[in-house]
Amino acid sequence: MATPIIVVDDDPIVGTLTLELIQEAGFTAILVQDSLKAQDIIKKEKPRLVILDILMPGIDGLTLLHRLKSDPETAKIKTIIVSGKSFAAEKDRALQYGAELFIEKPYEVDSFGQKIAEILKTEGVEPRQISPSHSAPAALMRSDLKITIWGCRASSAAASPAATLYGKRTSCVSVETPRHLIVFDAGSGISLLGKELMESGKFKDVWLFLTHFHHDHIEGLAGLPVARDAAYTLHIAGASDPDKPLEDAIAEAFEPGFGEQAPPCRLEFYELREESYEILPGVRMTAFYSNHPGTALGYSLQAEDRKIVYCPDSEIYGEDATALQDYDEKLGGLCRGADLLFHDGRYTPEDYEANRNSGHSSFIAAVDFAGRNRIKHLVLVHQDDRYADDELDKMAKDAEARAAEKGYKLKVSLGREGLNLTV
Ligand SMILES: [Zn+2]
Repeated sequence: MATPIIVVDDDPIVGTLTLELIQEAGFTAILVQDSLKAQDIIKKEKPRLVILDILMPGIDGLTLLHRLKSDPETAKIKTIIVSGKSFAAEKDRALQYGAELFIEKPYEVDSFGQKIAEILKTEGVEPRQISPSHSAPAALMRSDLKITIWGCRASSAAASPAATLYGKRTSCVSVETPRHLIVFDAGSGISLLGKELMESGKFKDVWLFLTHFHHDHIEGLAGLPVARDAAYTLHIAGASDPDKPLEDAIAEAFEPGFGEQAPPCRLEFYELREESYEILPGVRMTAFYSNHPGTALGYSLQAEDRKIVYCPDSEIYGEDATALQDYDEKLGGLCRGADLLFHDGRYTPEDYEANRNSGHSSFIAAVDFAGRNRIKHLVLVHQDDRYADDELDKMAKDAEARAAEKGYKLKVSLGREGLNLTV
């Protein structure tokens, strides 16, 4: 028997919620997150009902609705449009294109299933109970995300130890989804990533999210190999400083390598605010301001049903927070339950005392923060470059000991160059 309902929603959280509501009402449904594939899947599956989100990357719900209703093979399929946008114009277009119903988000949970049942009853389809174990559709099967640290050291003007197993390159972390490459920061570590990209030729589009424009987060752009190749597109996202647009800041960062000329690669700029963005099908990025001098962002990435938070320059106040210092709470809300958190752990508690209010954290405060917010795996990054390996080894041990002593269900690692992780 064909699947009665197909839900097309790029947002895994809303999509899953929709599935649950449908299943509670006694129907079978599958979720399709990639709007570009939806039409083919709908044609093949011939569902009784399709539920379409309006705002999706790739193809929007109204265009998809129009295509379905214009195709004789799918024209008879009942359609519900759901959207957070509730403008009259959208509703009118949805109904004009032939949608049976327009439902506003957030859903009225109680009546949602009932509305679906009503629409399907007119089709003569009786609800049937299914067990949750049958409800995991192929479209929900998730792939692993592959994460690599290419650099994660802070850089200071002070003389630092010459050799280190943890690496001296500055901030750059990549996240590979099955189809996309997302990169955080362009410190000197990005040159290693760039070299590997040129060798593998695997991704021609690189999505780069910059936290801010301090030197140790952009210094790698000038020497980035893929920037010299016209076959590549660099999508660069970041926050504008009040006095400098993003594009100008990037042009300055490229200057040591390219002079006044723009690099040969294609450049796309995305100015971000504190907001959530659907950057690619099934990939949501939430940008938030971090507690660090100047305009600095942290990022929460949701893809493949996983959540990764990247916040390398951020001062957690910990137990000493005053009533006005609510940053820990705000950040906690954004990080809670993350599978992986990269967070500033620049200082030992003693050195933190000497560097309070500089926008960096003690690693102990970061461990406590992660433990309290039920993070699964904390990777401490942005260690001060003056620490030698023996000090960093001790930091790693002390961080683990702290988590154990406090009873946190938390894995803690100290970031180092070349570290590969899978979530
Ligand atoms: Zn900084």
